[in-house]
Amino acid sequence: MQDPIQKLTDEFAKFPNVGPKTANRFVLYLIKKPTKEIKQLLEAIIELKKTIKTCQLCFNFFITQKKEESFCSICKNPKRDKKTLCIVESETDLEALEKTKKYNGLYFILEGNIINSQKENFQKRIKELEKRIEKYSFKEVIIATNPTTEGETTRLYIERKLKNKKIPKITHLGRGLPVGGELEYADPETLESALSGRR
Ligand SMILES: [Zn+2]
Repeated sequence: MQDPIQKLTDEFAKFPNVGPKTANRFVLYLIKKPTKEIKQLLEAIIELKKTIKTCQLCFNFFITQKKEESFCSICKNPKRDKKTLCIVESETDLEALEKTKKYNGLYFILEGNIINSQKENFQKRIKELEKRIEKYSFKEVIIATNPTTEGETTRLYIERKLKNKKIPKITHLGRGLPVGGELEYADPETLESALSGRR
């Protein structure tokens, strides 16, 4: 039998930013916990998998109790502008743009960029993007990738991909964002002006 301490340590070590030392500390912490609390923790994890779903349109996470629910509250909201699509690298970028309260269109999450993502996954997501753009005739597509080398390379790639899709306007965020930074770290005012200054 595999050492149960080692087995759980290995599992925790797979978590983002958790090394083997921290993973081991987590295990030692759990050993000292009463069974009741361990059960609560397990239930919380199961609950997460049961109630969090990925939106079939934008790939954002959302909470639902309904099994058949496939779309997030942004995609479902009738007040959102269904003719504008904003492409972002991650959920946190979407959240940053939502915080500005100046964007009322829809989103599409790439789940990374062309440099850092696994090639196969990224291409699969690009295919989804193309499908979505072909199905819904957007008036404007904003490519809001991060102002980093990776983000810029991704933007140029997407621009090429969307060239023949008959989209009236393809824009990207305007100046003002700190070069090399990420959208999620930009303050709402800067992000707001980059959004209104899009070109
Ligand atoms: Zn959605």
